[in-house]
Amino acid sequence: MAPAEVLSGKVVSAQVRERLKQQVAEMKEKFPGFTPGLAILQVLFSLMATTENPCCLLWMELRGCKEIGISANHIKLPNTATEAEVLKCIASLNGDPAVHGFIVQLPLDSDKPINTEKITNAVAPEKDVDGLSSINAGKLSRGDLGDCFIPCTPKGCMELIRQTGIQVTGKRAVVVGRSKIVGAPMHDLLLWNHATVTTCHSKTSTLAEEVAKADILVVAAGKAEMVKGEWIKPGAIVIDCGINHVPDSTKASGKRVVGDVAYATAKEKASYITPVPGGVGPMTVAMLMQSTVESAQRFLEKFQPG
Ligand code: NDP
Repeated sequence: MAPAEVLSGKVVSAQVRERLKQQVAEMKEKFPGFTPGLAILQVLFSLMATTENPCCLLWMELRGCKEIGISANHIKLPNTATEAEVLKCIASLNGDPAVHGFIVQLPLDSDKPINTEKITNAVAPEKDVDGLSSINAGKLSRGDLGDCFIPCTPKGCMELIRQTGIQVTGKRAVVVGRSKIVGAPMHDLLLWNHATVTTCHSKTSTLAEEVAKADILVVAAGKAEMVKGEWIKPGAIVIDCGINHVPDSTKASGKRVVGDVAYATAKEKASYITPVPGGVGPMTVAMLMQSTVESAQRFLEKFQPG
């Protein structure tokens, strides 16, 4: 069997960003003075830390916005911020007409007790471009796909699966991981795209057997190269969300990034596979931009400025 075709998130995300750039340009032409707005709210230990040593994903998010024509605002609260202060900031963003989408960067690095559930649910559902509020998660779980925001990583995985041209309908899909941000919404997304879905987690006793049944396999466990190539069904589509740092003395940094799937052996069995890095990661950022543009579009349809 020929080795798998590599599904490059770099290539696909560049196409998405190009399409969004055009969409935003058209929006601005139709509604002069209008700019889609994204805010990223972060509670962090040192306010200096992000400027001196930017978190890679956040950096990509902000740079991506600028390229597309989205106005991005990074709001930093110190780690002394209380739950009430974070909620106040969220309320102000909910009411700000220049902000069409915003995300609260998790985990919140506060030295005060903060209920994360309360924070994610305080985000207005129509601006919740991360799709983490119970309202958006509930809509997704019930199959109301046209009326909700879908978390960016599963949304990006779905886009990569679409790139294969293989129909999801009727396929057997397996998701490894059930987190609110990746595994659980991925399950829902595959289900409502008419796959027959099994979700595995840390208590699954037959992981290798379940994985072996998958025509479409999405892994988001956060365990370096845990899924072995031998487990994979010949011809499967393999989407690897994992980002794990493992020691590597040949690298200047002393480490390298690997996924949750043993890439070299899996590539021999799969028909399509995502690399790590350069697979799901860039898609997550592109999908955040896409959801922000979609939100801005909905805002324009509702309020029709000018
Ligand atoms: P979490 O730690 O929140 O969830 C991990 C999930 O994997 C849990 O549901 C856990 O099960 C399950 N799991 C852990 N160990 C095993 C095991 N041995 N067998 C089967 N299932 C297992 O992680 P996230 O969902 O947030 O992230 C997963 C990975 O994806 C990470 O590597 C993360 O860095 C990466 N990621 C990448 C993104 C990107 O943009 N590329 C974005 C977000 C995440 P249980 O529920 O029982 O504990």
